[in-house]
Amino acid sequence: MSSKSVLLHRSLEKTYPTAVSGDGVYLVTSDGRKILDGSSGAAVSCLGHGHQEVIDSICEQARSMSFAHTSFFTSDPAEELGKLLLEKSDGAFDKVLFLTSGSEAIESALKVALQYHVYNGQSERVNIIGRIHSYHGNTLGALAAGCNPARRDTFEPVLGKTFHHVSRCFYSADGAGKSEKQYEDDLIAEYEAKFKQLGPENVAAVIVEPVVGATLGSAAATDRYLPRLVELCKRYGVLTIFDEVMCGMGRVGSYHAWQSLGSTAPDLQTIGKGLGAGYQPLSAVLIGKRVSDGFDKASRQGAKAFLSGHTFQGHAMACAGALTAQRILFRDALVAKCKHLGELLEATLFNELPDEWAQNGGSLRGLGLFRTVDLGAMRSKFKGPLAGEISRRSFGLGAAVYLCSPAVDAVLLCPPFIATEAEILSLARIFVQALNDTVKSRRAD
Ligand code: PMP
Repeated sequence: MSSKSVLLHRSLEKTYPTAVSGDGVYLVTSDGRKILDGSSGAAVSCLGHGHQEVIDSICEQARSMSFAHTSFFTSDPAEELGKLLLEKSDGAFDKVLFLTSGSEAIESALKVALQYHVYNGQSERVNIIGRIHSYHGNTLGALAAGCNPARRDTFEPVLGKTFHHVSRCFYSADGAGKSEKQYEDDLIAEYEAKFKQLGPENVAAVIVEPVVGATLGSAAATDRYLPRLVELCKRYGVLTIFDEVMCGMGRVGSYHAWQSLGSTAPDLQTIGKGLGAGYQPLSAVLIGKRVSDGFDKASRQGAKAFLSGHTFQGHAMACAGALTAQRILFRDALVAKCKHLGELLEATLFNELPDEWAQNGGSLRGLGLFRTVDLGAMRSKFKGPLAGEISRRSFGLGAAVYLCSPAVDAVLLCPPFIATEAEILSLARIFVQALNDTVKSRRAD
């Protein structure tokens, strides 16, 4: 960015280089720098940049029919993409609703849940239970459902009072002195206590990120947490919403993250980011049979509308791009590749991170190409949080990596699935150099 930028950027203090082109895992800036996209933006660009087949399909759709408002029409790319998502989910879902951003998908999932209960004669089910240190988006409903203090606190006074939060599931940080089973028992008991406190008949839905992304950095639910939560919610007539906007679409080495975590499907699932792979802004709510049947029944009884709708939902060009992206993901077996490259990234980081990282309590977590280097335990020895400086230095050395929220001192690495092994090694080495330089500079201070 030049100092003349007219945009209200994320940071009010920093200036941004201008990205002008993209090629594979690299983005190129106007001053000719090649930056390895080590976090796919924010777990978005799973196919990297400049993928010709995706670009061609978008151009072709633009030429034939760019946009037809969903008040009047459906479109072939939206229908075909919907079908593909259902097929690839092995019968877990029955209907799809397309939106534009992840936040919009969250808002819509919440509204689908609330409306389902109204149709079901349970309009008193209005409470939503989320978790501490989850992030579901920046719109007001999504902020209320999530709990990423840095993004949420300023807006707290206007957030809905029907949103509640229980503990996060973060065994490596919170499980000391407990077996995993005991830890899960306590978390599930906390949900049940919250249901009882609110009156289970007043609870609409529980929303969780199966693998927490932006706030904690690829913190996966423990083995039995999700299936036990699904079972508990079923017992109380509460809907489950899994937010896979960041961790879904192959990112953790399975198409849906819950498939890697021993769970059955939720009632509703949000997806985004990797769905359009950055070529188009697209998100969706995947809707399970129970909810879909509820809407069908209501329709037979005279209900007329799903009381929501956004101008750009089901956008034909966006769906065409995402359809090609998803076809490529399966044709090129990129989910399996993501799993393999994730293991390589983890092994390389373990080998190359300095001894003092491990000796001072540094840790590595995550799965697939969704890996976080945690530096929290090193703070006291190295004069405060390290992740921000490491992320800045990485960028200077030629790799963009994702800085997690201040709830942790951690950096998330989530490169494109199309990366070569050499590019994964290069990312790991740049990151390690940035970490070494940071540690050295703190010592010298
Ligand atoms: N849910 C999760 C889990 C996310 O990580 C994000 C974005 N980081 C969102 C929702 C919101 O998506 P968007 O920024 O596209 O609105």
